[in-house]
Amino acid sequence: MDHSVWLFCAVFLSGYMAYSRAKLSTYTLLFLILLVIGTYFEVTSFFSWLLFGLIAIPLNLSKVRKQYISQPLLTVFQEVMPEMSQTEKEAIDAGTTWFEADLFRGNPDWKKLHNYPQPRLSVEESAFINGPVEQVCKMMDDWHSTHERADLSPQVWQFLKENKFFAMIIKKQYGGLEFCAYAQSRVLQKLTGVSSTLASTVGVPNSLGPGELLQHYGTKAQQDYYLPRLAVGEEIPCFALTSPEAGSDAGAIPDFGIVCKGKYQGKEILGMKLTWDKRYITLAPVATVLGLAFKLKDPEHLLGEKVELGITCALVPTHIEGVITGRRHFPLNIAFQNGPTQGNEVFVPLDFIIGGAEMAGQGWRMLVECLSVGRAITLPSNSAGGAKVIALATGAYCRIRRQFKLPIGKMEGIEEPLARIGGNAYLMDAVTSMSTGAIDMGEKPSVISAISKYHLTEKMRSLVQDAMDIHGGKGVCMGPSNYLARGYQGAPIAITVEGANILTRSLIIYGQGAIRCHPYVLAELEAAQNKNPVSALEDFDHALFGHIGFAISNIVSSFWFSITGARVLTSPFTDRTRRYYQLMTRFSANLAMLSDIAMLTLGGDLKRKERLSARLGDILSYLYLASATLKRYNDEGRKKEDLPLLQWVLEDCLYNIQQAIDNFINNFPSKIIALLLRVIIFPFGTWLTKPSDATDHKVARLLQTPNETRTRLGRGQYLTREEGNAVGLLEQTLEDILACEPIFEKVCRALDKKLPFYHLDKVAEQGLAINAISEQEAQLLKKTEKGRKAAIDVDDFDARYLASDNSLFD
Ligand SMILES: Cc1cc2nc3c(=O)[nH]c(=O)nc-3n(C[C@H](O)[C@H](O)[C@H](O)COP(=O)(O)OP(=O)(O)OC[C@H]3O[C@@H](n4cnc5c(N)ncnc54)[C@H](O)[C@@H]3O)c2cc1C
Repeated sequence: MDHSVWLFCAVFLSGYMAYSRAKLSTYTLLFLILLVIGTYFEVTSFFSWLLFGLIAIPLNLSKVRKQYISQPLLTVFQEVMPEMSQTEKEAIDAGTTWFEADLFRGNPDWKKLHNYPQPRLSVEESAFINGPVEQVCKMMDDWHSTHERADLSPQVWQFLKENKFFAMIIKKQYGGLEFCAYAQSRVLQKLTGVSSTLASTVGVPNSLGPGELLQHYGTKAQQDYYLPRLAVGEEIPCFALTSPEAGSDAGAIPDFGIVCKGKYQGKEILGMKLTWDKRYITLAPVATVLGLAFKLKDPEHLLGEKVELGITCALVPTHIEGVITGRRHFPLNIAFQNGPTQGNEVFVPLDFIIGGAEMAGQGWRMLVECLSVGRAITLPSNSAGGAKVIALATGAYCRIRRQFKLPIGKMEGIEEPLARIGGNAYLMDAVTSMSTGAIDMGEKPSVISAISKYHLTEKMRSLVQDAMDIHGGKGVCMGPSNYLARGYQGAPIAITVEGANILTRSLIIYGQGAIRCHPYVLAELEAAQNKNPVSALEDFDHALFGHIGFAISNIVSSFWFSITGARVLTSPFTDRTRRYYQLMTRFSANLAMLSDIAMLTLGGDLKRKERLSARLGDILSYLYLASATLKRYNDEGRKKEDLPLLQWVLEDCLYNIQQAIDNFINNFPSKIIALLLRVIIFPFGTWLTKPSDATDHKVARLLQTPNETRTRLGRGQYLTREEGNAVGLLEQTLEDILACEPIFEKVCRALDKKLPFYHLDKVAEQGLAINAISEQEAQLLKKTEKGRKAAIDVDDFDARYLASDNSLFD
């Protein structure tokens, strides 16, 4: 045997072993066999055996390995890794990981993805959406609420309470609706398509707040008292965490409680004096019960040894003397109730603490445990519902509105933003289904909830901006017939609340993802913090060598996928989607490798290198968004007609992943490592592009003509064609316009004149006069003209009506 043949076999086989994540013992055996063969054919020397012995023996002898390799590395690790704070530990411990862990680990199991059950509504949930939800959509007058009343109407408030809209998460035993997460999402999607004020008002009590906290941690007495009252709207809850000095850094709230004795309802009891100054609290101005987060102190040791008990959550009835609520903020003209609350040394019993006195100091854990669920439902669903309605309305508008004698949707310039709207609406609905489906399977997916919250609210913001551009003046001029402007105004609210987006992208998605999803990092961190040196070394050694094998495997896989274009990979489907699965597995391996390299070279500094960490988070996020969309396509029966939407989303996500990797490498502090990374990941350069003009064209076409794909895109929204529902009427007009076009052409042909496509009522008269069309056709032209005018007209007002201070006119 030739020396180069042996070397090639050695490199190839060890690469293959690394790729297939072989164990250390298997590696050792392979090299032993290779050396025996090499010695037989006289292509290896004594030096090869010596090298093998020096590496293989200490690695395989556990005692030697631990003493000379793992222990020194553990010591270094303990020195460089910053100590995890209690709040960080609690955030890491709360919640679970799900499919995002597969995406993070470099080898996603696509069959597993497609085997997750497709979320479905129960008969009762469907009836609620088709009944009370449909009805409240009909009752809702968003212009009246946002411009005239700055609140929901009393009738809508009453209807919401009576029909238990605030009790979707409350268990049936307490009189609630106990809907699954998927159903909650569908309800919110439908409401938000009509009014963000309505969706926010309903969303908040069903998200993180007293209802959720009581069910998980409340005492029996608290549950029995509050939950039935919350279920029927007798109590309106709010939850107050944010204060002027502590927004994103919520753990730093200055609000406090002092354990002390005092008088409550005429009796001397052990209680606490609460002092708080909170702001931005949704529903606070109308709340009857205030969920309050504060830091509890026990300076007189009335509860025990500890003085600083930590963040605690209590329920404080707002009628108690000293509780100040009622004033309102005015967030971007969206009229949901939101305002500040204060209290100064308000004395309340200790059993106002959620879960009673023994839960004093457990508030942060409670909040992070519950946050992951609510964050995956409310804001992502509100964004997806808005996006779906905008997609349909904008598609219809593009077909109805004409300029330069053409529907504006036929213009290539319009196709680009219109396709973005369609593709993203398809993706956003897919993501809400997949994320809420995970919750209904019992997960508390904190990384997924951060991804869903960040990306869907961002997508909503850019999508509504695209829709505004397409609508031109129709989008800008506000009034009852404007179905876009309030959504446009309110989009930044969703960006800010429940973890402001810059922080979510920079710190949370990858920060939590890396520790939770990585198969070894958490174990290494825990080992480093373990005070018992024996078990610390044992655990660290195990995690470390697992980690090394994992890292080598991802480097080899990344390179192998790069030089083969990932075409060697199998895919669950052999149709057009095959390539998407291959590329996603490739990028997943890249993410696992980049993540290890970043952690290895930057250590604790990675936390401060927020922009690098954000880009790794982007890779994970787009892999998740694309997976959800592939799952949707499959769950809906792999319909060929829907392929343009899927294609748009996958092209967009894969392109964004490529850009995130490219930017990560470009900005990596060590230029040598960056060069190596580029050689491994992009040996032939970057090659993916944004969705092509051809894909944009197909998506834009889909949105402008009634078809099954379009119907699926708008599924579950309030599209009933009735007075007061501008979007429903737009749908009718779209159909009418399409039906009218051949009639219009008939008249033009008969007149031998190219008429402009307006004043269709007059065209009808002309057609009838020359017997070119039937009476029925003329009626359709007339009806369509009304719809067409309504679609393009904007509101105008008396100047006095618009001024908030009419005395200025006197
Ligand atoms: C309409 C509305 C409703 C709300 N409802 C409630 C409610 O019901 N209950 C409640 O308790 N709170 C509520 N909030 C508060 C909301 O959760 C906070 O606004 C949010 O936590 C952000 O705090 P902040 O506005 O003070 O921004 P800041 O914390 O001042 O942040 C400013 C900017 O800095 C960024 N940032 C902060 N830290 C970092 C970091 N480490 N890295 C990168 N960027 C960072 C943020 O992303 C943000 O862009 C509401 C807020 C609004 C506006």
